[in-house]
This record gives sequence, structure tokens and C-alpha cells, in this order.
Amino acid sequence: MQEFSEKVQSAYEEKLGRHLVASINIEAGETLLEEAPLLVAPHWECGQLKCAQCLQESYIICKRCQVYPLCMDCDEHDDFECKFFSTGAGCAINKDLLVKNYGVCALLKLLLLLENPETRANCQTLIEKPIKLEDYRHNDGGMWQEHEEQLVKPIMSSGLPEAIKFQEVTSDLIHAYCIRIDSHAFEVTARDGDTLKGVYICGASLPHHCVPNTVLALDEQFNMKLYAAVPLKAGDIIYNSYTNPLMGTTQRQHQLRLSRHQECSCSRCLDPTELGTHMSSMKCRQCPGGYAICDLSGSGDWVCEGCGAVLPAAEVHELLAEVGAALVEVQGELPVFEALLAQYKPLLHPNHFLLLDIKQNIASILRAAILMNSLAEPCKKLLERRVQLCGDLLPVTRAVVPGISKLYAIALFEFLLASVDLSEMQFAESDVTKQEYVAQLTRLRAIGKEALDLLRLEPENSAEGYLVERIGMELERIESDLMKYGRL
Ligand SMILES: [Zn+2]
Ligand SMILES: [Zn+2]
Ligand SMILES: [Zn+2]
Ligand SMILES: [Zn+2]
Repeated sequence: MQEFSEKVQSAYEEKLGRHLVASINIEAGETLLEEAPLLVAPHWECGQLKCAQCLQESYIICKRCQVYPLCMDCDEHDDFECKFFSTGAGCAINKDLLVKNYGVCALLKLLLLLENPETRANCQTLIEKPIKLEDYRHNDGGMWQEHEEQLVKPIMSSGLPEAIKFQEVTSDLIHAYCIRIDSHAFEVTARDGDTLKGVYICGASLPHHCVPNTVLALDEQFNMKLYAAVPLKAGDIIYNSYTNPLMGTTQRQHQLRLSRHQECSCSRCLDPTELGTHMSSMKCRQCPGGYAICDLSGSGDWVCEGCGAVLPAAEVHELLAEVGAALVEVQGELPVFEALLAQYKPLLHPNHFLLLDIKQNIASILRAAILMNSLAEPCKKLLERRVQLCGDLLPVTRAVVPGISKLYAIALFEFLLASVDLSEMQFAESDVTKQEYVAQLTRLRAIGKEALDLLRLEPENSAEGYLVERIGMELERIESDLMKYGRL
């Protein structure tokens, strides 16, 4: 199920556990690992029944086992699963188990993969690492209780535990499987655009780093390929990232604690400037132009790099909570986002992750508004604003996801899209000369090609493959105007 390149080898270290290291020097873009998912299933909270065979929307139930949903195109699903419920002790299991509690889907799959002697070995790595359930029982923001009600109780009372022979099914075992599934899952996108979770034994157990040195691509069948994002030296640890790189350190660490029960102390987390991006820095209240960074090794307060003035940590956290809460309240209203930006700009570093978040929101509202021509303001002003906002995001994104990066490619594409529109309009309205227009287009062509290059490892049949097509269309547009006007 997993295929390792000969360029990586397994290693062990107390803190990291079993992991992979580069066995020789590796170039960016080289394949490190290929893996098919152990299972792909809907999220715990999914309510829409999906076909057990193809994962499209389902409206019928398998006639043979009367348990699994199917779609109009599929008349059978995994033979072991179907037989398990339609013969022997399986017949006594409540037929409504899945339909009434669709969230249990992933658990059911794992339990039956383990029950099936042919697939049991594939799951071994997933279930062998001990987990301390006590760390989760009272300490996961209510998740345990939710799992208890939605997943564990329905399974325990369905008759399923009595039909499973391979292992004794207890409430704690089910809770442990929930945790194991979540800690090995990536969000994957189905053909219909819905997100599902794909469980990958190796790909999802790589150690975390907030600046990953790998990039992963998934095709339509959810097969995963892991590539080196940057050049690796022999002995380098292969890392993945399980947080959003566009969040600040405290937020990434919080997310990691919740989702994987891990503390991160990577180089980015230990650097209060976050690789010079200042994504968590505050504006100094005492001196003009000064920025305060967190004193990570001492008080934990924010200290101005210029004048040394102290901004207490409690004050910073309170402010961040306030902005976070305000962002949750906004319902896509442009003026509200602009007001928030104006309100918090004087308090936060321009690259602060919360300001970037607001800017991204404004940029995407503007994109839709420009498309539909739905705002009263002149289009050129909006385009200029969008170009500026998309441009602000570029250097920060580049710094936190170096090398071959989808996230940076997307940021470049957004910038390209806005810039081509603006340049065309400026030229049409004679704001710029033909020469200036040609110079702008030449610069934008280079940006489009850079974005394409960053997506070169993505399979055609994926969301990123579609993005490649879109960038190609923009490049054609640029090329055609360069042909027309670039000659003189
Ligand atoms: Zn189907
Ligand atoms: Zn069936
Ligand atoms: Zn980190
Ligand atoms: Zn200062």
C-alpha cells in the first residue's frame, strides 16, 4: 500500500518516534513516498448518505445487506462488508446503524478492515502505537463527549460488538479508533466537491513542522504522492505540516494540540519574528514605527524591538480574541471587513495573520463583486484594491511555505488574475502607454509561469489540475496581447 523511494529510510528517535529521513541528497520535486489510502470516509458530522462504492450521493440501500447506502450507478460494494452484515451473526445487527448514524462510517470501515484477515495487516501500524486515552477523555474541547453520543453509543448498542470476532469491542476501543483515524487523516476532495477524510498510514504520521519540507498531491482516486518541496540533504528529517501555515504561532500550536495532541517547537515556533514575517508581531504603543515581538524565552510578553516597551501577553491575547470574535460575526459584508481592517491596522504589524485573514476575505469578496459587477464603485478602484491586497499576501506566503508550494501557487494565481484585469483596463482607458502595458504583461507572464511550475507535480484530475488549466488560460490571454502590442 505504501511505496517508499530508495532515497528515504526509516529512522527512530525517542521524541519523534518512527520517522523517515533522506538517505541521500534529494532535489526539490523528487518523489519520496506513494501511498493509497487505508480508507476514505465522510467526516464524523456528515449527514448526507454516500454510496459505499463510489462515495457519490446515495438514495438507495444495498438489497443484500440492507445496511450500506448505494447510488443509482452502483449495485454492489465491498464484498466482505456486505457479507458481514448479510450472513451469520452480522444479520442480527441493527439495519439502521449506518443510515441513522452516518458518522460511524469510518469506524465501521476500520473495524471491518481489522475483522477481514486479508486486510488486517494493513491496519497494524495504525493500531499498534499506544495512546493514552486519559489525555483525551476530559481534555479535547468536548470532542470526547460528542464522539460518545454520535459514534460510540450507536455502535455499542447496535449488536455489532457481539458480531465482531477478531477483537473485543469496547467503548474505549471505539474512542481510541476515533483518535487514531483523526490523527492519520487528511482532508480529501471528492469528485462532487465534498470533502471527505482519507486515512494514510505513513503520509499522515510524518512528524510535524510548521515549515514543511514536503508537498503532497492527491489524484482523483485519493492516491497520495509525497514530494520534496525543497532540496533535502542526506539525514534530513522528512516533515509534513498539519496546521494552516497562514496562522500565527499561538494559533498553530493551539490547533495542533487539539487535533494531534502535540506540542510544536520547530524553528518557526521558536522564532518570535516567524522567519522575519512578523505574523504575530504587534505595533508598539510607545514609539512610532516600532514593532513588539513575543519574548518566548522569558516573560512571554511582547517587547518592542525599538524602544523596549512591554506589551503584556494578557493584553495581546485579549486583543486577538476580540478580533477573532469580530471576524466570526462578519457575514461576508465588505464594509464590515474594511472597517475591521481600519480599526486594527494601528495595533497590529501589517503582516499580522489576523490582518492577512481580513485582507484575504476582502480580496475574495472583491473578486466575486468584480465578476458580477455588483458594486456601485468604479471597477478600476476595486481592481486596484484587489491587486494590492493579493500582493500583500505574496511575500508572507513565500516565507512560510518555501519551495514547491500549492499555497503560494494559489496566491500567485489570485494576484495574476487581478493584475491582468487591471492592466487591460488601464491600457483600454489610456492610463498607461503601449510600452508600459507590454512591460506589465511581460512581468505577469513570468508570474503565471512561476505558478505553473509550482503546480507541475499535481495530477491533472485534481482541483490543482483545474487551477493549472485556469492559469494556462490567463497566460494565453497575456500571450495574445503581447503578440498584438509587443512588436513595436
Ligand atoms: Zn456509487
Ligand atoms: Zn451490501
Ligand atoms: Zn512549529
Ligand atoms: Zn517601541
